[in-house]
Formats: sequence, C-alpha cells, structure tokens
Amino acid sequence: MTDSNLDTSAETVLLKGADVVAALDEKTSQRIEALRLKDIRPTLAILRVGERGEDISYERGASKRAEKVGVEVHSVVLPEDVSQAELLNTVEKLNADASVHAVLMFRPLPKHIDEGLVRNALSPDKDIDSITDLSLAGVFSDSAVGFAPCTAQACMEILSHFGIETKGKKTVVVGRSLVIGKPVAMMLLKEHATVTIAHSRTIDLADVVASADIVIACVGRAQMIGREFLSPGQVVIDVGINVAEDGSLVGDVDTNAALTCVSAITPVPGGVGTVTTSVLMKHVVEAAERSVEEAV
Ligand code: NAP
Repeated sequence: MTDSNLDTSAETVLLKGADVVAALDEKTSQRIEALRLKDIRPTLAILRVGERGEDISYERGASKRAEKVGVEVHSVVLPEDVSQAELLNTVEKLNADASVHAVLMFRPLPKHIDEGLVRNALSPDKDIDSITDLSLAGVFSDSAVGFAPCTAQACMEILSHFGIETKGKKTVVVGRSLVIGKPVAMMLLKEHATVTIAHSRTIDLADVVASADIVIACVGRAQMIGREFLSPGQVVIDVGINVAEDGSLVGDVDTNAALTCVSAITPVPGGVGTVTTSVLMKHVVEAAERSVEEAV
C-alpha cells in the first residue's frame, strides 16, 4: 500500500468515501464541461415503479448529487400495478430517446412483472448499473459492453484512490451475488489480485477471511465479520448497509473490532455507499461520451 492519500492520524486508517467522492466528482464535472462545449448535457432517466421508500430516498440522493456535478435527471414514475407491456414500452422509449444517455431502473420490480425480460430490454449502452446480462457479460469478459455495477466499481475506486495495491494480494470477497460479489471478484482479478470468493457454504469462513490481505465484505448481515475474521494489516472494504436493532446503519463488519486490528477500513455510513453515487454519475457521463463517439 502507498500512503499518499491516506489519513495517517489514526492507527487504523478510515478510508472515507468523502475523499474519493471529491476526487471523482471533480473529474466528472470537468468531463461534463467538455461535453457542454459540444452542446451535450449528460442526462439520466430514473425509472421507478411504485412508491417504495428506499427507492424514493435513493432517487432523492442521486438527484442531489447529479445537480451538484451537472447531470440532468428525469424521473419516470409508473404505478405499482403497471402492466408488463406498458413497462416494456417505457423502457423501449427511453432506449430510443437520444436525449437520454443513461437509465437507472429500481428493482425489485412488482411480482407480476417478468423482471428478467424487462431488465434485458434496456440497451446496454444506457445500462449504467449493469442490470442487463450483456453488461454483466462485459464485466466477465473484460470487454467494453455496457457498464460495471456501480457498487462493485465503487470498491475498486476506493482501493485505487487510496493507493492500495491489489496486484498479487490475497483477496477474499465474502458474498457471491451478481450485484456485488461476483463482479467485484472479476474486477479484482483483472487488477491481478489472487481472489477467493466465500459464501454461506464456505467451511472455516473466519479462517479464510483472516488469511486475506484485502477483505471485501458484501454479505448483508449486520456486523457479522467480527474480530475472529480479521487480522493485523488487512484492508477491509465494508459494502454492507444494514439497519441495526437500535435503528442505526451498520456494515457487515464489526467496525469497533476492526479498529483494534486492521490497517484500513471503510466506514458505514460514509464509505462505499457514498462513492457508489459518484460512480453512477461518472457512468452517466461516460454513456454520454460514448454516444458522441458513436455519432461521429
Ligand atoms: P445478497 O444478494 O443477499 O448476497 C449476499 C451474499 O452473502 C450471498 O452470496 C450469500 O451467500 C452470502 N452470505 C449470506 N450469509 C452468509 C454467511 N452467514 N456467511 C457467508 N456468506 C453469507 O446481497 P447483496 O445484494 O450482494 O448485498 C450485500 C450487502 O451489500 C447488503 O448489506 C446490501 O445492503 C449492501 N449493498 C450496498 C450497496 C452500496 O452502495 N454500499 C449497494 C448494494 C448493496 P449464498 O450465495 O451462499 O447465499
């Protein structure tokens, strides 16, 4: 690890998302300025079905960040009982609309909708959070189809920002979902890490995790990764966002236990989640840039 960007005042370094966000958003704003000179305003459509509280609050946060960096946001809201045909029609219209560069579609969709069909109806060119099979295939095949999932990309941005070397490092990803675990493992592999993917059937999980140089925790279980999973010198990226019994937000890692032991850890909140929104904006801008290149 190089320590140029690290806050070295504490024994265990907190890899604060705000530091990464500032750097990412500045670059994104510069790219937006360059696009504006070509009369392009990067535009994100947020497609929401129903009125789920967590979707609305994510939409609010994303819209605020978009405004800050200069991305235009259009919210497209459909009722909970929308028909599959109407939803597909909306996706197709967004695909065809040249003024929309990117689409963020909240999931899960209502039960009466064939989610796989609707997801894959989206053009990979506008799929800035890798919900289509083609975008995911792009992550696994190292090709430039679509975009990587924003949260997985956020983990990579954090490691890169703080100068954390992944090459040759023993890295354990705890979790194997298509949203985070599997894609982040592929992205780490691309950066030459030696990657183990652990999951609910992994034997001696604590020992496996403790043997890693870098731990990516994406389990979805509040503070499951306790002291016995951790060892001195580790870098821990805590992707988890869980509501604790007292109503506070906590990660998948027991941060207090980690602070007595590891060399660096992302806080929750204020870690991966906040960087994810910046990655989203970066992807919108990239989608807009790609659309210009295609038009030439
Ligand atoms: P998920 O689809 O539920 O996957 C969880 C994974 O963890 C599964 O692969 C599961 O293994 C594994 N797992 C569950 N219990 C385990 C245990 N006791 N021991 C070992 N492995 C276990 O969750 P996800 O969508 O990947 O999300 C993971 C976490 O990230 C959640 O807390 C979520 O809120 C958070 N998240 C954060 C962001 C962000 O921006 N920071 C974005 C999205 C999600 P099996 O496959 O064997 O069942």
